[in-house]
Amino acid sequence: MSTLITNIGELVTNAPVAGDDAVPAGPGRFAAIADAALVVEDGRVAWTGPAARVPAADHKVDCGGRAVLPGFVDSHAHLVFDGERSAEFAARMAGTPYRAGGIRSTVAATRKASDGRLRANAFRLAAEMLRQGTTTLECKSGYGLTVDDERRSVTVAAGITREVTFLGAHVVPPEFEADPAAYVDLVCGPMLAACAPHARWIDVFCERGAFGADEARAVLAAGRAAGLMARVHANQLGPGPGVLVAVEAGAASADHCTYLTAADVDALAAGATVATLLPGVEFSTRQPYPDARRLLDAGVTVAIATDCNPGSCFTSSMSLCIALAVREMRLTTQEAVWAATAGGARALRRADVGHLGVGARADLVLLDAPSHAYPAYRPGVPLVAAVWRAGELAAGAVPAA
Ligand SMILES: [Zn+2]
Repeated sequence: MSTLITNIGELVTNAPVAGDDAVPAGPGRFAAIADAALVVEDGRVAWTGPAARVPAADHKVDCGGRAVLPGFVDSHAHLVFDGERSAEFAARMAGTPYRAGGIRSTVAATRKASDGRLRANAFRLAAEMLRQGTTTLECKSGYGLTVDDERRSVTVAAGITREVTFLGAHVVPPEFEADPAAYVDLVCGPMLAACAPHARWIDVFCERGAFGADEARAVLAAGRAAGLMARVHANQLGPGPGVLVAVEAGAASADHCTYLTAADVDALAAGATVATLLPGVEFSTRQPYPDARRLLDAGVTVAIATDCNPGSCFTSSMSLCIALAVREMRLTTQEAVWAATAGGARALRRADVGHLGVGARADLVLLDAPSHAYPAYRPGVPLVAAVWRAGELAAGAVPAA
């Protein structure tokens, strides 16, 4: 069965261009077609082109001149937790600085929560993301920090996405405060063994107050030996070794990148590690924004993601992150939409999402707006009219044509 989606004012495809050797497999550079149409067949994009030359299809949807984007790819989120930290946020806005240790209050609440409660909270947030156009999301553990609590966290995450990340090395839990090396051994040993079967990724919070360079290297090496791919929380709270550790480990992504040295930028530009920027964190912690222009101008692949979590940034809105990236980090509207779709796909090493080239998974966002610029141009406005995931209408509504 095929569906023709037509009368699209602007169709952002980010489609790979045949013969473009500068672009790795998966999404290509920012690309869009005006007055476009798209055909979905068996959950995949079967055709894109001008609306004036559409092929026949079984069903038809008329977009009324509105814009269609690839579904957002949120490559960094922490959705498995209990409790909330609005009081900490309020205190921070009143002048208390953010520190990694705040994670521990969520750890205490998460350990106490029932399985059903953890699952319900994660599902609610994933549904909230989907309604806002996020069709691929990554989800981390990291608020359990015992073998059993991390195992159930990755199991809950696996119920909402295939992009599950084991983040036992999020912070040293209070019971290991006197012996952090023993905690690293636990993470690299029994905890990893319990979690690896349910996960695709290994992550470590490489930061002062969390884990140092050698500890991070040990965690990533153990994860790789267990068949997981690497990603790193790097350089969020200050300059540090996180980015270099990520590049050296061949990580798919170094996330945050708020404080970068020239050596960090050079390493990212020379390697294959994506810089994933999380502007909602800077917004919600009142930190300076990363120098995204420096990264882009150096040729680094940049993604943007929400970091949705109860402490440093509790937004699930990729549209807000696009608006912040444009306003505060000086990305162009095209760069920001690319980073929120194709960039996220690169950060997850996915070739099937983040673009709408022929053969891509038919993950589409219909905006109540005529162009890709609107999420930044109309910040905070719910512009997502409909969302398709793998060709199925998953949220919103479309007029019968
Ligand atoms: Zn994070």
